[in-house]
Amino acid sequence: MYEMIQVGEHTYYVASPTNVGIYEYGGHCVTIDSGSDGDAAKKILKNIQERGWKLDKVFCTHSHADHTGGAATLAERTGCEVYAPGVCAQILRYPYLEPVSLYGGFPNKEMRSKFIMAKACDCRELDKSALPDGLEFTELNGHDFEQVGFRTSDGVWFLADSVVSEATFEKYKIAYLYDVGEHLKTLSKLRTLEGELFIPSHREPLEDISELVNRNVTNVREVASVIKNLCREGLTTDGLIEKIFSEFGIKLYIMQYELIGSTARSFISWLLSLGEIEPVFDNSRLMWKST
Ligand SMILES: [Zn+2]
Repeated sequence: MYEMIQVGEHTYYVASPTNVGIYEYGGHCVTIDSGSDGDAAKKILKNIQERGWKLDKVFCTHSHADHTGGAATLAERTGCEVYAPGVCAQILRYPYLEPVSLYGGFPNKEMRSKFIMAKACDCRELDKSALPDGLEFTELNGHDFEQVGFRTSDGVWFLADSVVSEATFEKYKIAYLYDVGEHLKTLSKLRTLEGELFIPSHREPLEDISELVNRNVTNVREVASVIKNLCREGLTTDGLIEKIFSEFGIKLYIMQYELIGSTARSFISWLLSLGEIEPVFDNSRLMWKST
């Protein structure tokens, strides 16, 4: 864990719970994501400093704390700049926005833990001009408000959380999503990417991503089908969340409730937009019913 693995002439990744990419150029380097917290960041930095490289910039793929939690430590220790796409840059600066967006109000203590809320960090909005020669990015939206993947000059893609591992589907059956429609567009886009190696954030690298993309598309369709089935007679949002927990056998605790709940609400919006469920107003209860 946390060893640095070379996957191209200039491209490395630090294998960890959230894989972190490193792109080196002439004794300087940038990272793609930052580790999940300060301890992870220190281990990543040790790898970089042992090689005598200077860390210039951290590029976070999206706002989630397991990708951004080490950014503040890397910036404090090296003076590097930190970048994230669009509104995600503001979440690095004001990390309470993350639990607020999931919970929908002032967040409880569990939602304010480091697993959801990263340490605050000065952060700039990512644009092409911030990239060193040889590095490019593309939008991979759906999983978060915004998300990007990076491609190095060695043809290595860092795909962030645009694809979920088979192991996660085995364990949870449902994965966190912000915008289901955008996520499906991203999965189609992933099929068109050309490269030598594809590195999701929470899985070993793959040379061919197509089967994993298929598995992800199938999962979205399966979850949508389960939700439509559960809503046959009409369910409140909370009723649906409860049924999802029991249907998929997911362990219930507050953070899991908020993550699955947020994903369920995203599926409701998507199915509403497709006309596959409809709102039913039953006295003072709002229910969702399959059409
Ligand atoms: Zn994520």
